[in-house]
Amino acid sequence: MQVIAIANQKGGVGKTTTSINLAASVAAKDKRVLLIDLDPQANATSGVNFPVDPGMSIYSAMVGETDIFSRIQPTLVPNLFIIPAEIDLAGCEVEIARLDDPLVRLKEVLQPLKDAAPYDYVFLDCPPSLGILMTNALAAADGLLVPVQCEFYALEGISKIMDLMKKLQSPPINAPLQLTGVLMTMYDARTRLSQQVAKELNQHLPDHIFQSIIPRSIRLSEAPSFGQTILQYDADGVGAKAYRNLADEFISRVPSGN
Ligand code: ATP
Ligand code: MG
Repeated sequence: MQVIAIANQKGGVGKTTTSINLAASVAAKDKRVLLIDLDPQANATSGVNFPVDPGMSIYSAMVGETDIFSRIQPTLVPNLFIIPAEIDLAGCEVEIARLDDPLVRLKEVLQPLKDAAPYDYVFLDCPPSLGILMTNALAAADGLLVPVQCEFYALEGISKIMDLMKKLQSPPINAPLQLTGVLMTMYDARTRLSQQVAKELNQHLPDHIFQSIIPRSIRLSEAPSFGQTILQYDADGVGAKAYRNLADEFISRVPSGN
């Protein structure tokens, strides 16, 4: 079982769109997938049409009141399970900060799941900040997947999250943490800027850039308002094709180990 944090402290770069559609596309390839919504905005939760129910998030597990298994719910998508978010996750940060070992609360909560390994992949949809929830995600993950929007400040954003990754890689927090890859999102082949960002990313982080690129697509932005993944909403469109390609590339880069 591999735990992958989908994170970038920059807002609106395609983290949630990627969490939902990569999770659904990997699940469609006969893998068992758990999506954990770590963002109090709960966009991944509503994006798979899951009701935002008070008390159902990972919060109570992180503060030691319940175990993780009781938080897992099936979705309408076969092979795809979810731990939804709720607005209370925002308060969670304050409470966790007061506990012992606040940075490894999620890591400890996920350990029984890692031991039992009932899933091939666990994806963590992170909130857009370098706060306690994202730090917990990086402390618990085997890999970090960074979606970047193809725009001018893309590289600057990456260097910040890579700094955080390096800090967490020092023992005892999470030495094995790897950069799974950087994913270009909202790519527009017609603009010189998109092409330039792609070139710079490939120069700075060769071997770490996914060959699969997610194009800008209205369909991808419409799907969540219907509570559907792109595979349900527009199965034959460019967005679905891009996320299916990414799922193939992802699975070959990151064997589940199950
Ligand atoms: P936040 O930081 O707020 O959590 P995020 O990084 O999770 O944001 P998304 O919510 O996935 O980003 O995307 C931001 C906006 O861009 C949304 O309105 C989404 O529908 C849209 N969007 C994401 N990917 C694409 C795409 N490839 N083409 C067009 N629109 C997209
Ligand atoms: Mg999001």
